[in-house]
Amino acid sequence: MQHETIPLPKTNAYGFYEIRLESIGGLGANLSGKILGELGALYLRYNTANFASYGSEKRGTPVKSYIRYAEPDKEIRISSPVEKPHLIGIFHERLAGKTGVLAGVDEETAVVVNTAKSPDEIRREFQMHGGVLTCIDGMKITVEEKTRMNMIMLGALCKASGFLPFECLEEIIRETIGRKYPAMLDSNLRGLRRGFEEGTTKAFPNDETYPYVPFTEERRSLGWDNAPLGGVVVTAGSTVSNDVSASREGYVPLFHQEKCIQCGMCDTACPDMVYQFVKGEWKGKPAMVNLGPDYHHCKGCLRCVEVCPTAAITAGIEYEQDIWKQHVRNQDLIVERLEFEDLGANSIVNEEKY
Ligand code: SF4
Ligand code: SF4
Repeated sequence: MQHETIPLPKTNAYGFYEIRLESIGGLGANLSGKILGELGALYLRYNTANFASYGSEKRGTPVKSYIRYAEPDKEIRISSPVEKPHLIGIFHERLAGKTGVLAGVDEETAVVVNTAKSPDEIRREFQMHGGVLTCIDGMKITVEEKTRMNMIMLGALCKASGFLPFECLEEIIRETIGRKYPAMLDSNLRGLRRGFEEGTTKAFPNDETYPYVPFTEERRSLGWDNAPLGGVVVTAGSTVSNDVSASREGYVPLFHQEKCIQCGMCDTACPDMVYQFVKGEWKGKPAMVNLGPDYHHCKGCLRCVEVCPTAAITAGIEYEQDIWKQHVRNQDLIVERLEFEDLGANSIVNEEKY
């Protein structure tokens, strides 16, 4: 389906309409960026560019995706990060306060946040200078419709843009996801529509209580020529200190240590090596003892639940936080937020962090 070209509602000094997606690995922001790029190029005849910045393929690391649209007669010859987006999608509320997430956002920007909270709460939490803020409870819809977070966010971003045609977005999902995963198509389309319809939007004028955050480029101060011998691992990705993060998609495995027989099936089945085993003792004999999941990299696929022979792992719902937090193995390590910026693509090692 080709739609007639819709004049871009706003452009910057270079003639571009710019979108930035802020996310963490596993929530599908990279694919969302590609879909928005294709939507502009194939269905609306814009010139478009899309690229992403992310670290390892591990769940839980920061991801940024950038999309630029230009009218058909205008070329795009830059590939620098989007510094002042017209539209921004924040795939998880836990990104609040992270460096650069709100860079360039003001009352002219349409902001979409995946959260169960209200726009007023999120504006306070993010200390957002100004913007037209849409809150969508993506986690809940994902679970109810058995779909993926990026479908909900794409629906909400389409609505917040005010000009992207929803029917073209549906069509591109049919063409791409529908071909690859036909069994998932209906649930994805339901998620897309609910994302489009169920957001709560409120406009906030610029307010100096929360100052404008300009885009700044962090520069590395340690490099190949001056890093300490042996390299630097500032924060390893999957360690005992990273107990809680937001990289799952609605479900979490709940670990019941008293039922565990240390068979290791969960470790074998888990695609992200989430279970942590240490040398210890079980029933009076030396054994590798299962400490439970390191939630930092759990994607909530629940394969571990399926394979556990003793029901020592059961399924929980992520947003019922009070329940699943009891299953974090070391209660002292529960934190409200992880410092995502210290990990992955957008982290930069400097002397201070080292
Ligand atoms: S749900 Fe289980 S198998 Fe899936 S990533 Fe999490 S710990 Fe691993
Ligand atoms: S599969 Fe179940 S019983 Fe086996 S180690 Fe994992 S949690 Fe324990």
